[in-house]
Amino acid sequence: MSEKDTKKVTPKSEDFDRWYTDVVRRAELADYTPIGGCMVVRPYGWALWENTRDALDAMIKRTGHENMQFPLFIPKSYLEKEAQHVQGFAPEVAWVTRGGSKELEEPLAIRPTSETIICSLYSKWIQSWRDLPVLINQWANVVRWEKRTRLFLRTTEFWWQEGHTFHETSEEAAREVDTMLGCYNELAVDWLCLATIPGRKTESEKFAGADYTLSIEALMSDGLALQAGTSHHLGQNFTKAYDITYTDRNNALAYPYQTSWGLSTRMIGGVIMGHGDDQGLILPPKVAPVQVVIVPISRSGDPDGARVVDEATEKIEREARGSVRLKVDRREGIRPGEKYAHWELRGVPLRVVVGAKDLADGMVTVVRRVDGEQSRVPADTLAVQLPRMLDEAHHALHRRALDMLDSYSRDVTTLGELQEAFRDGPVWASAPFCNTRECEDAVKASVHAVTVRNLRADREAGGKPCLACGRPAEHVALIARAY
Ligand SMILES: [Zn+2]
Repeated sequence: MSEKDTKKVTPKSEDFDRWYTDVVRRAELADYTPIGGCMVVRPYGWALWENTRDALDAMIKRTGHENMQFPLFIPKSYLEKEAQHVQGFAPEVAWVTRGGSKELEEPLAIRPTSETIICSLYSKWIQSWRDLPVLINQWANVVRWEKRTRLFLRTTEFWWQEGHTFHETSEEAAREVDTMLGCYNELAVDWLCLATIPGRKTESEKFAGADYTLSIEALMSDGLALQAGTSHHLGQNFTKAYDITYTDRNNALAYPYQTSWGLSTRMIGGVIMGHGDDQGLILPPKVAPVQVVIVPISRSGDPDGARVVDEATEKIEREARGSVRLKVDRREGIRPGEKYAHWELRGVPLRVVVGAKDLADGMVTVVRRVDGEQSRVPADTLAVQLPRMLDEAHHALHRRALDMLDSYSRDVTTLGELQEAFRDGPVWASAPFCNTRECEDAVKASVHAVTVRNLRADREAGGKPCLACGRPAEHVALIARAY
């Protein structure tokens, strides 16, 4: 066992940022590299991302989209066609100016997102209303130059999917934006067990070049919000800028309506911060690379006991194969307690302890990572019961996240109450909000580092006074600090 396994993780309550970095590195999810701002995702972290990605990929396909792949480079002139977009991204773009020893005639951007190249290419392919809708998605790495690095949360290079669609009507595009936000929420809740609030971004927080942006905001266990997926209605802003026209049903020339939506490896940061504790990760069972770890325990000097333990372990392993992702920790010369800590750090949802003493009664002990709950289960039926036990662990984890959301939630009606709510630390405040720039600025100025995360999709103010100006408000703003 390496030294870093036995070294304690910094307690969350002591220093949340250090706790986060400790967990990411010691659980071997990811690490820093010599390239500033760039992380390496290690096999355990990549397996977690793959399982998350596969779940979302299935939803993307289920809702009628197809995957494709666009170039990594975007010519400078393409990027500059949509004014708001280029303004929004300019400070973060990395440029290639040489190819081999030759200066390029036109610098190439490394894609920060692909709207511009997709529009340039689809302007050739979309000719008639029969070519619509276009429903495509790309899984790719993108680059946005960052000064500050936080593993998974803020890195210069990251991995994501970006969906891009074109439609005949604005209404159809709006339905698409809703559908995909729904998929992100399904992933966050039904797969990752997070507590989320979906809603609409304010004008100042929307995507550069969008008509409007929807987001899901996921609650982290320190009370901060993580924007965990965004879906944008782009209107005709890009299709006009890139001159994408088609012949509509009335034989007239028209611009299609467009959407884009993305979810990235940031979500892995959300899983870590949403669920982890002082012992390390707590992984949602559906995406955990290892769902069940078996720790066989036999005493030296008891060869008969060791044989019984080995046989029982092999039987469980054989019977559970194919139905759960199971690993047996057969490492020699390591004490059981150290093995427990090793797998707790890695967030494995269930630990099965197979020991001679329990086996004498035909039993094994199962310990659940989320709450430490122990149960004795007949060794004979364990393999059959594991999927149900994982399902129960999934619900326990989600319940825990919802309880956390309850404990952080505050309803406020004035800026004074907002300040009061944040007095003892970060909360998730909800308040009637008129959605003007002035009132948004007033909210931001009233409490350090808070922003309007979104206008909640699940609540309406119904004319109650805006927390800042007192005029009748339609929206309920979710106000929090965010990553
Ligand atoms: Zn107001």
